[in-house]
Amino acid sequence: MEKDLGDRPRSSDSLWQVALDQSASGIVIYEADRRDDGQIDALWVRLVNRRAEDIIGLARQDMINQKAANLFPSAQPTTLWENIHHVINTGKPHRSELFYQVSRTHKDHWFDLCIEPVGDGQCAVVSFTDITALKSTTQALMGEAILFETLSTTVPGMCVVVVDHNQQILFANGELPGLYSNRHPEEMIGQPIIDTIIPEFKADWKRYVGTALNGEQHSFSDHWGGWRCECYVGPVRNELGEITMGICVYRNVSEQYRQQQTLQRMNNDLQRSNKSLEQFAYVASHDLQEPLRKIKSFGDVLAERYADQLDEAGHDLIRRMQSAADRMNTLIRNLLNYARLTPPTDVSQQANYRLISLIDLLNDLQTDLEVMVNEHQAILKVGTTIPMVPGDPTQLRQLFQNLIVNAIKFSRPDIQPKVTVSGSLIRGVDVPEFPTVDRTQEYAIVSVQDNGIGIDPKDYEKIFGLFSRLHGRQQFAGSGIGLATCKRVVENHGGTIAVESKVGRGSTFRVYLPLHVPEQIVN
Ligand code: ADP
Repeated sequence: MEKDLGDRPRSSDSLWQVALDQSASGIVIYEADRRDDGQIDALWVRLVNRRAEDIIGLARQDMINQKAANLFPSAQPTTLWENIHHVINTGKPHRSELFYQVSRTHKDHWFDLCIEPVGDGQCAVVSFTDITALKSTTQALMGEAILFETLSTTVPGMCVVVVDHNQQILFANGELPGLYSNRHPEEMIGQPIIDTIIPEFKADWKRYVGTALNGEQHSFSDHWGGWRCECYVGPVRNELGEITMGICVYRNVSEQYRQQQTLQRMNNDLQRSNKSLEQFAYVASHDLQEPLRKIKSFGDVLAERYADQLDEAGHDLIRRMQSAADRMNTLIRNLLNYARLTPPTDVSQQANYRLISLIDLLNDLQTDLEVMVNEHQAILKVGTTIPMVPGDPTQLRQLFQNLIVNAIKFSRPDIQPKVTVSGSLIRGVDVPEFPTVDRTQEYAIVSVQDNGIGIDPKDYEKIFGLFSRLHGRQQFAGSGIGLATCKRVVENHGGTIAVESKVGRGSTFRVYLPLHVPEQIVN
């Protein structure tokens, strides 16, 4: 039994063997056998260490003094034999990386291969270190570096600057924002980042980069010389969580910013003009009512007090004047009503919003409209599957009243008017194109269908405009404010309204209302 090294000294050969067996690299010594013409005929294995046994998968005694060609019959390591021959023949060492499938395990390995000449030029020491793990890490890192470089150069308007612990630039790529005095990223590599920044921003950026290297992250937008940028400055950590670098990412959002500014300006202008229009309509209708009341009451006085002094033509004129005043009164009331329908802009205005049972609301309306329904001998049916929606009850009542009244009013003379109100749920994505529809939420769809005169498709848009009428007053009474009011109400509620019709067959008005109060109303 072998004793420990401390017990008694070993021979220098066995010491060498121990040292060799401790090596992390596989080591094999080959000796060349030459033919008469001096060419190498075969390579013989003369020494094998323990690691080589593990890698090759053969015991030392099965390899020593065997021909290499017999041990490794597969042609795979041909280049290895060629390299060994070359080293033995030239006396020059060889080093390379070798990709090799170990035949016994069928596993692919990368080896760092060193071949050194030894002895009298007949032998070579082949040492091979398994670098498979290192290689795959390097390849992964290279893949990441390529991906990173590709990203930073191909994403339009993107720029990346990476610094080391001393705030020196390791990497800079993409289109540099006006923050940097240099236009060419490759020229900045190796320089302290602060030296590359324009003077007025040096202090700020010294702080951003310094704190980023201590683990702080900064996300903000800024602008330099016509460049509006979204910026990120933060640490880069390794897999142990240690900060190894700092990174600055810039995204040029100048174009989006310009567009957003233009939109904002247009929106403000529009809001201002809407506001003044509303004020105008409100004041005008309010102020018009007073003189109108006077015309009405003077007309009444004329008709009563001076009745016997007027002939039939005079009475007729007064009747027509009173009827015109009544019409104007209706017009002003409708207009006033319309002007009051401003969208809720704050929570206090939204206070009127509550969950409303449209079925109850429509049943109430049915009662209110009984006289009109009877007058026209119409049939009005309200469905039982109409969803509840959040909203302003007065506005929603107005909306459905206008639609039902129109459906009865615009009937065909020879046909009994039939009006059906029905409802169901619909997904936001199925609501027809409308800018404020929230595609992620559900909507109630309520249809008011009639069998009346119908509408030409070319007039679908026009009829929702203020004072838009397709017929004369003699044919159908009205002020042309009804559908404009309906449109306002649904838009105030974050919904939309659409019509589908066939001239001479009937029309269907579809109202889409969100099941939740939309964001723009809450904010
Ligand atoms: P008004 O009913 O006071 O005329 P509206 O704004 O309610 O005004 O309607 C605008 C126009 O749209 C109407 O004048 C009419 O020509 C058309 N219209 C509205 N509803 C219907 C309907 N159900 N069937 C046919 N035409 C309609």
